[in-house]
Amino acid sequence: MNKHKKQKQKIRAEFRKRHETRRRKRDFTQQFARDPAADTDELAAGERVSGKGDLTRKRTVVGAQSSADESGLSVAPAIDPVTMRHGRVLRIHGLASVVETDDGSTLRCATRGLLKSLSTDQRHVLAVGDFVWFRPVGSGEGVVERIEPRQRVLSRTSRGRQHVLVANVDQLLIVSSAAEPVLKPNLIDRLLVTGERSRIRPIICINKVDLVDPAELQPMVGVYGQMGYRILLVSMVTRFGLERLRHVFKDQATVLAGQSGVGKSSLLNAIEPELNLRVRTVSQDSQKGRHTTTGAQLIPLKCGGYVVDTPGVRQFQLWDVSAAEVAGFYRDVRPWVNHCRYPNCTHIHEDGCAVKDAVADGRLDARRYASYCHLFAGEDA
Ligand code: GDP
Ligand code: ZN
Repeated sequence: MNKHKKQKQKIRAEFRKRHETRRRKRDFTQQFARDPAADTDELAAGERVSGKGDLTRKRTVVGAQSSADESGLSVAPAIDPVTMRHGRVLRIHGLASVVETDDGSTLRCATRGLLKSLSTDQRHVLAVGDFVWFRPVGSGEGVVERIEPRQRVLSRTSRGRQHVLVANVDQLLIVSSAAEPVLKPNLIDRLLVTGERSRIRPIICINKVDLVDPAELQPMVGVYGQMGYRILLVSMVTRFGLERLRHVFKDQATVLAGQSGVGKSSLLNAIEPELNLRVRTVSQDSQKGRHTTTGAQLIPLKCGGYVVDTPGVRQFQLWDVSAAEVAGFYRDVRPWVNHCRYPNCTHIHEDGCAVKDAVADGRLDARRYASYCHLFAGEDA
């Protein structure tokens, strides 16, 4: 299934009936959603929401001419850099969201009525990780007016619907351990497919190398390295590889995945010792609101960048990946598939299969092929 096709269909949303009369010819939100790359100069009519006091939502269509953005931020039409500010959604509590401004402060935002009235298949119009434009109202509050087009979305499909867990994730840190629990390369492969599927750069991190002879890991490092994946060997006990790891996190939005016990919490604490404390602060503050945080959140790092904390994401499922697609997400299998005798070859049992031939003469790693067969069959890693 082509996720992007699917998303586009969904975004081409209709207003709900009760908003029908408000439909405007040049609604930038619609236009923006339809084609994020559309030439924004064409969208001459601007719209602003004006509010008096906290979070009122009085609509004023000002019809301002869209000007070239003086701040150079030409991501959306009719941005007024004087009244609007740019930020990123760190977390969502019910209908409100916590937005971090570009200067690092946070404020609570409501979402503009019009954005909410777009009916999409997603539970929330806003997603954690979204880059937004908002208008400050009162002190420490604002109204989100514009959502920038999303890149690299981490999503989950439930009951046939795609739910965005986090938007604009830069990389997927696949955490595994060399021992205790035993290294599971099949799980790494499964997570690599997940990364490839969402176009989120996967990085492999093998923790607890203090428990093994690092030479044992070299063949595996070679296999993944040859495919172009970055693979880091680390130990949170000896702090081996910690500086390189810190560098990996810097200025990126990173989501961690891996089975429990491999050392993800230890790793985060090593990267930023105060993280524990801050995570606790975050959950305390969410209790103040009417709604508690159920979804993901972005946790800003001192070194720059974010850690994406997503309950449930650590037990990754393969979203929307059909068996037939799996080969395309195996970087080392993919080059052979066009040479198979049958165009719909599954590379499992067919004669004249170039993938199996590649395994037979050692050009494709046998362990990787075995993990492909596992995944194809839908078996657990
Ligand atoms: P998580 O479930 O992935 O968050 O894993 P934790 O961070 O809770 O770690 C699980 C256990 O592994 C803890 O007892 C840690 O002390 C231990 N651990 C973490 N990193 C290392 C390491 O590099 N070497 C060794 N030997 N143990 C580690
Ligand atoms: Zn084949």
